[in-house]
Amino acid sequence: MQNLYKKIKELTIHKVLRELTRIRDKYKCQLCDKKQGDKKHSVHHIDYDINNWDKENLITLCEHPCHHKTNTNRKYWKELFKFVMFFRKLN
Ligand SMILES: [Zn+2]
Repeated sequence: MQNLYKKIKELTIHKVLRELTRIRDKYKCQLCDKKQGDKKHSVHHIDYDINNWDKENLITLCEHPCHHKTNTNRKYWKELFKFVMFFRKLN
């Protein structure tokens, strides 16, 4: 029961963090600029570590095609999104 409670709590927190990321990114895919429609955009973990919920590690992407694209050439996407996050800080 304790574990189940922990799991539910985690799921809720992650749901909130995903939504906060979409708000921060103005509901736009950060690769193709597509605005979120009926289907919610995905929130991508830049370093591919699904346990890393640091806001610097999260970025909003449309599910298709952008989030799908990140399944291959992982090293390339990781570097690219790190750059995106870095340049944001300069603005
Ligand atoms: Zn996109």
